[in-house]
Amino acid sequence: MDAERLHAKNIIIMTLEEAENAAIQWRSWMCLLCGWIYDEAAGLPDEGIAPGTRWKDVPSDWTCPECGAGKEDFDMVEV
Ligand SMILES: [Zn+2]
Repeated sequence: MDAERLHAKNIIIMTLEEAENAAIQWRSWMCLLCGWIYDEAAGLPDEGIAPGTRWKDVPSDWTCPECGAGKEDFDMVEV
């Protein structure tokens, strides 16, 4: 393999969706029942939610790890 090919492999091509995601700041969402905060940038790897997972992409059957509240009991908070 020549050097040019190696270099090409390292170029990251961003899709439009990825570009939009990168442009939007990470948000945090707070459980209104117990105050636990979901940080989109950090995700929740312990529960299989990768860092960088947007709140809208968190499964609808996901529940608060602290108190078991559903997504509808969370509200966006500015941090
Ligand atoms: Zn909670």
